[in-house]
Amino acid sequence: MSALPNCPKCQSEYTYEDGNLLVCPECAHEWTQQSMEESEQETQIVKDANGNVLQDGDSVSVVKDLKVKGSSSALKMGTKVKNIRLVDGDHNIDCKIDGFGAMQLKSEFVKKI
Ligand SMILES: [Zn+2]
Repeated sequence: MSALPNCPKCQSEYTYEDGNLLVCPECAHEWTQQSMEESEQETQIVKDANGNVLQDGDSVSVVKDLKVKGSSSALKMGTKVKNIRLVDGDHNIDCKIDGFGAMQLKSEFVKKI
């Protein structure tokens, strides 16, 4: 039997099984393994410019020069971006870039490295 998943609401490790239900003693959230699997399937798959699937923590490089809102300098093609985080929305990558700070990119303008 593998370890129980953390609470999807508060990330508590102290979850326990109650019949089909999983229960979190810290926030009183109850859920089922099945509902977790369903929500995983709904998770949007984010692909880079080459069609490779991106994941949180990946490193990517920018495949074209991009204008940066609020900055006079552009993000140059080939700029490396470490430790990306996938988010919902039009710009689906959250990241920090040296010299620019926190910003969001579109996955179609990066490639996995
Ligand atoms: Zn909880």
